Amino acid sequence: MRPVVIALLFLLCAPALAETSLRIVAAETVYGDVAGQLAGPHAAVSSILSDPAQDPHLFEASPSVARQIADAAIVVLNGADYDPWMRRLLAGSARAANRQVVDAGELAGRRSGSNPHLWFDPAVMPVVARAVTASLTRADAENGADYATRLQAFMASLAPIDAHVAELRSRYAGLPVTATEPVFGLMAAALGLVVRNERFQLAVMNDTEPRPSDVAAFEADLRQHRVRALFYNSQASGAAARRMVALARANKVPVVGVAETKPAELTYQAWMLTQLDALDHVLAAP
Ligand SMILES: [Zn+2]
Repeated sequence: MRPVVIALLFLLCAPALAETSLRIVAAETVYGDVAGQLAGPHAAVSSILSDPAQDPHLFEASPSVARQIADAAIVVLNGADYDPWMRRLLAGSARAANRQVVDAGELAGRRSGSNPHLWFDPAVMPVVARAVTASLTRADAENGADYATRLQAFMASLAPIDAHVAELRSRYAGLPVTATEPVFGLMAAALGLVVRNERFQLAVMNDTEPRPSDVAAFEADLRQHRVRALFYNSQASGAAARRMVALARANKVPVVGVAETKPAELTYQAWMLTQLDALDHVLAAP
């Protein structure tokens, strides 16, 4: 190739390379999606937990994940003991210069041991978004104005979620529901639902055997129709949880599947609205 052609190619490619030199790694795809919306074309975003067929609580990171993290300028994680492997990798990895870490659990002031499915708490994502934008602006001040515009657009895009939550809360607050795991628990709390059998849910989430008395209480709730719906984790199907789903169906208690990992085809916002619609559909039934 002639030197002039090479020079031209370099000129054409250089801006594109510069645009994606900022790397963001998110532990979960829901945060990767939000970071991508906030960064726009200025960063390359990858998410580690993105397989809806996998149980995130049992995830173990591979060496390739460690390499990805070593290159990241910004790392976003759920924290709150949901992704302890991420903290281990951050502690152990070679550190990219000026790496910034956005930890949703830390930002939301959640202690370990509390419900770690923070993206279902509508109050958490705005706080995470502001922190991601602050990190982007520190890492790439030149595009600061664009990051500010993108944050504004992102915040505005949350309004339909907040409106839907308020609407469902006005209709359903106080209704008793139950779940095989606390996946949807923070959203259920935001809706004012009364979630029963929490000890059973924590045992299943932690992959331990629920106590016989907790199993009996759960079964009685389903058989005596003391709950309006059962949420089950569509990504984890331990024997104890599967039994409750079968018992709910046998007793005609509506079953709502809730996933931990955002489906690839939906944005965070669309995912939240889809789940709220599914719940509305079930609770509206007489
Ligand atoms: Zn979970």
